[in-house]
Amino acid sequence: MVLADLGRKLNAALSSLNRASVVDEKVLDALLKEVCAALLETDVNVKLVASLRQKVKSKVKTALEGGADKGKEVNRKNIVQKAIFDELVGLVDPGVEPYKPKKGQPNVIMAVGLQGNGKTTTCTKLAVYYQKRGFKSCIVCADTFRAGAFDQTRQSATKAKVAYFGSYTETDPVAIAAQGVAKFKKERFEVIIVDTSGRHKQEAELFEEMVQIGEAVKPNMTVMILDASIGQAAEAQARAFKDSADFGAIIVTKMDGHAKGGGAISAVAATKTPIIFLGVGEHLYDLEKFTPQPFISKLLGLGDVQGLMEHIQDLAHQNPDKQKEMAKKLEEGKLSIRDWREQIQNVMNMGPLSKITSMIPGLPQELLQGSDEEAGGRMKRMIYITDSMTAAELDSDGSPFMDFGKDGKPVGLTWRVTRVARGSGTSVREVEELLCQYRMMANMAKQAGGKDGWLQAAKKMQ
Ligand code: GDP
Repeated sequence: MVLADLGRKLNAALSSLNRASVVDEKVLDALLKEVCAALLETDVNVKLVASLRQKVKSKVKTALEGGADKGKEVNRKNIVQKAIFDELVGLVDPGVEPYKPKKGQPNVIMAVGLQGNGKTTTCTKLAVYYQKRGFKSCIVCADTFRAGAFDQTRQSATKAKVAYFGSYTETDPVAIAAQGVAKFKKERFEVIIVDTSGRHKQEAELFEEMVQIGEAVKPNMTVMILDASIGQAAEAQARAFKDSADFGAIIVTKMDGHAKGGGAISAVAATKTPIIFLGVGEHLYDLEKFTPQPFISKLLGLGDVQGLMEHIQDLAHQNPDKQKEMAKKLEEGKLSIRDWREQIQNVMNMGPLSKITSMIPGLPQELLQGSDEEAGGRMKRMIYITDSMTAAELDSDGSPFMDFGKDGKPVGLTWRVTRVARGSGTSVREVEELLCQYRMMANMAKQAGGKDGWLQAAKKMQ
């Protein structure tokens, strides 16, 4: 993903802060210069960048004048980091909550946007996303302008095993949309996605058609599909659409291929419309849920515990009893190696690994590098390691692998680590790393206790 470049640059800037022995105005200015340059490179609007710089400076100044540093350099660093983190979140946060589809009722989602932006592809991705989460999902193709639009929907929906509706003979898109939605409502579908046309002879006709389809199907949410490559021009395009057909949310596509993605996201936030997903590739699963704070957290390599927890909760429909049991364990702050492995396995079933693993804080960055296959291979090694543990070890909190000193603090690793490394065909270092990562997750669970606590713990980490 091209945004990874931005993440790396921001990370490098923040790391230089960690290395600085004193944090004075000069260091802060140099840091802000790097951060701002990285943002400008991804096409964030100059005014937004200038305002970010100003806000960070004044926040840091106010905090330090209030005596928040208490003479400690580490506190000053924390203040600067937090101010930058918060302002980056502010840059992509429109401050508006999007509509959330509800189970047991029809949720009509109408997709609008210019042709070529990735609308049809995104409709299928959305249907798959909700289907995976237990919603009975389908697509209605109401694009009669473009020859072959229905064929494209039919092919991708068939591949994705999603129900679809359209017509080769009917030329009125409003009629098709109304028929399709009525049919699927009757059949108790829960997420009904209406794909509309993206081009007309006249722009005014396109907008008029959108309004008419909207009136016919009464969507719970209209989503605009926007191509990241237009960068900050996204603001003007979003406003043009909003003036005609009011929409509740935006999906920015092609984030994988374009360096201007950051500009598109911040420009959309400026229109006070929530972005709900990012399209990050051409495949069915290349759709990432977007929430401002976790997005920035992930961008900076801090993980996304909130996203991870949501993923896990989304799985609840597949095995409700198991998930209830897990929720109880989390509430009690008890998480064994076995539980952790189960969660990783669950999450691995949810979609491409590179998307999931970046949500897990503390996973070494090397694990995420390379293709999905490579990352998957590394994750599988982690599972092999746990496969070589005994039942008692798996049910433990990792202590059988530790030697403890008289003061109760761990002083080294036990012979069990070598045994597991041998048994799993891995190395002692890999086993040690896995134990480290598990401990980090378990500690967070313990500190936090319960679902909301987890989120707080995630915030604390940031
Ligand atoms: P529509 O005309 O808006 O319905 O656009 P399509 O769904 O036909 O997509 C246009 C092109 O963009 C196709 O080649 C898609 O594979 C591609 N596309 C859509 N979304 C993404 C994305 O998130 N990343 C990349 N790289 N390509 C995408």
